[in-house]
Amino acid sequence: MHVAVIGAGAFGGWTALHLLRRGSKVTLLDAWGAGHSRASSGGETRIIRCAYGNDNVSARFAKRAFELWRESEREWGIPLLIPSGMLFLAKENEPFLKASAEALTALGIPFERFPAADAAKRFPQFCFDGIEVAFYEPGAGVLTARRNCRLVTERFVSEGGDFRIRAVRTPCDASSIELADGSKLNADRYVFACGPWLPRLFPHVLSNLIRPTKQDVMFLSTPPGADDFAPGRFPCWFDMTSENVFYGIPDVENRGFKLAPDLRGPAFDPDTGSRAISEDSIRAMREFVARRFPSLETSALAETRVCQYENSPDFAFVIDQHPENENVWFAGGGSGHGYKHGPAVGEYIADVMLGTRDPEPAFAISRFKVG
Ligand SMILES: Cc1cc2nc3c(=O)[nH]c(=O)nc-3n(C[C@H](O)[C@H](O)[C@H](O)COP(=O)(O)OP(=O)(O)OC[C@H]3O[C@@H](n4cnc5c(N)ncnc54)[C@H](O)[C@@H]3O)c2cc1C
Repeated sequence: MHVAVIGAGAFGGWTALHLLRRGSKVTLLDAWGAGHSRASSGGETRIIRCAYGNDNVSARFAKRAFELWRESEREWGIPLLIPSGMLFLAKENEPFLKASAEALTALGIPFERFPAADAAKRFPQFCFDGIEVAFYEPGAGVLTARRNCRLVTERFVSEGGDFRIRAVRTPCDASSIELADGSKLNADRYVFACGPWLPRLFPHVLSNLIRPTKQDVMFLSTPPGADDFAPGRFPCWFDMTSENVFYGIPDVENRGFKLAPDLRGPAFDPDTGSRAISEDSIRAMREFVARRFPSLETSALAETRVCQYENSPDFAFVIDQHPENENVWFAGGGSGHGYKHGPAVGEYIADVMLGTRDPEPAFAISRFKVG
């Protein structure tokens, strides 16, 4: 079977690799290359954690993805994941923590829950005002996102896959695909893993199901001569008590302290949207940092980025066959949390396509009213 995978981000790259390893002939195309700067997978870093509240499907996929990232590290002899742990800051009765505790216990994944006063001793970089409880997942960590996309594609090529920088013409009817240079590519099946570009490729099916939003990201310089915010000393974190639900990532590769709101920003076009973050975002992040990380209050703004989430209505993935064209598959709707799952999503798509696993109803297009 010849499968064409379109999109070499977290979903497409891993899907191509898993299909290749199961004996398919695989052609992987990307218009701009694996993990390029406008792709959703193109940021420096992405968090991997298994605490997902009552979203048991994501917790299960994250656990499997974790195993596969680790397995690949061993196989390739290259680190892909930086251990850091992840700290959730919350009020005592936060339902997400209760549900996460149950799910992690069932999956056998370690976690700790402790009062804010204990957390303050362990993580003195934070100011714990307004926090009642901390929930810590010690196995969580940071994936070097764009670098890992490139490594997956390189691996795909070294194992015999065919990777080409080619753009599929949009919109696309997909019985055979036409490339931007006018040539055609014929395969038995097509997997469109085009992240925020998916609704433009298939407007009739996906324009109401995947909505890209603008997400502003900021990197602050850390205090000179100190490694207080480096992985190992400082965790990934998620502040569930802040109005903007900020989260952050330690200083990886000396880029600085990374911080962003998890709220969905305005609608965003991945080609024409401005990649400049708004003054309002800077102000909100500064106010938050002054309260939660006093030692960074006057830190220089080292770098900013705009990325996009590609949100489904329920924030679960959209991985399914085209409703009218069963040789066409979609893999998208990462909704701000898809990167970590890449290896498990790729494995899932290969298994379902080859008939060795049942589809997950949680990813099906039929869960929404199509049209
Ligand atoms: C700021 C930010 C923070 C995030 N944090 C996390 C996190 O901490 N943890 C986590 O797990 N996830 C996180 N995510 C979400 C995660 O990054 C995405 O869900 C995931 O990267 C989506 O991958 P993808 O493969 O679906 O899309 P993409 O990475 O966008 O890949 C799609 C690819 O398709 C290609 N393409 C598009 N159109 C065409 C065409 N016509 N022809 C050929 N190629 C085409 C593009 O060039 C692109 O490379 C975050 C996202 C953002 C923006």
